[in-house]
Amino acid sequence: MSISENIQKMKSEIPEGVTLVAVSKTKPISDIEKAYNSGQLIFGENKVQELVEKHNKLPKNIQWHMIGHLQTNKVKFIAPFVSLIHGVDSEKLLIEIDKRGKQNNRIIDCLLQVHITRESAKFGFSSEEIKDIIPKLESYKNVNIIGLMGMATFTKNEIQIKEEFSFLSDIYKKHKQMNTLSMGMSGDYKIAIDCGSTMIRIGSTIFGNRNY
Ligand SMILES: *Cc1c(COP(=O)(O)O)cnc(C)c1O
Repeated sequence: MSISENIQKMKSEIPEGVTLVAVSKTKPISDIEKAYNSGQLIFGENKVQELVEKHNKLPKNIQWHMIGHLQTNKVKFIAPFVSLIHGVDSEKLLIEIDKRGKQNNRIIDCLLQVHITRESAKFGFSSEEIKDIIPKLESYKNVNIIGLMGMATFTKNEIQIKEEFSFLSDIYKKHKQMNTLSMGMSGDYKIAIDCGSTMIRIGSTIFGNRNY
């Protein structure tokens, strides 16, 4: 199936109220153009340099989401245009995004990444840390935390995936001011939607497998 057919199929499968982020990392501009021409306007990338290059080359009404781990020293490159940063995982990063938001006269939408797998993860706040950081968010005037993001364990065990997504969904529901719960990828988006996801990040199901 073509990229445009894949997008139409995805859109017909997902309920209203769930936003589709087309994850175009490693894929060429021509693939993104195909998706764009079929009406997809939201794209996700996980590397700053690739995100900036693609933003420069493609139509300006595309909404670019940074979905990967973001290093503090690279925030300045995406701050002028990024539409949503999914992986905010430290207060240090929050402070930097706030600073660069101010410099660009923008309020930058962000999601706090929560660590939801059983194993120790490299990135993400624990549920305890989320509790601690929420009251501090008000002081960052150029950051708008609109929700949470999480990644389930890469496993075939659907019960485990469901447990992890439900755990994140429960935290999300406690914060009525939030409106975005980013969870679900090609392999687990159906479970994520069942657990209350409002935003899924889909790469290979749209663009095919990636050759790194
Ligand atoms: C690559 C990536 C995705 C998309 O993965 P697929 O399995 O190809 O759908 C989603 N979220 C993040 C954070 C990613 O890095």
